[in-house]
Amino acid sequence: MVKKLTCISCPIGCELSVSLDESGKILKIEGNRCPRGKEYAITEITNPQRILPISVKVEDGEMELVSAKTDKPVPKKKMYEIIEYIKKLKVKAPVKRGDLIVEDILGTGANLVATRTVNKKS
Ligand code: SF4
Repeated sequence: MVKKLTCISCPIGCELSVSLDESGKILKIEGNRCPRGKEYAITEITNPQRILPISVKVEDGEMELVSAKTDKPVPKKKMYEIIEYIKKLKVKAPVKRGDLIVEDILGTGANLVATRTVNKKS
């Protein structure tokens, strides 16, 4: 079986073809212009990861939510667990863009960081 992927490691966006056997083992990777494409294909097949953009509740803020995202990709298989965890969080205003909201979220090695500023309610 051949799986088609687009490498997102740089703006070129190489079209990758990944040949797999019946058990899902990678036999061959083609279409990458550099080694990063091969790494991307291996991760995407064995442990796909994504940056998670999300909103977090704010207490006493001029807005009820602050946008945030993980500072590195987190495993897709842990995404639901991470979202459920973040839904229960509440940060206290003021929150500044770049503030660390959660360090090493659920042991993924990724931090959750605010991507905008929410001032305290006046
Ligand atoms: S394989 Fe290399 S050149 Fe192609 S998109 Fe990925 S990083 Fe860019």
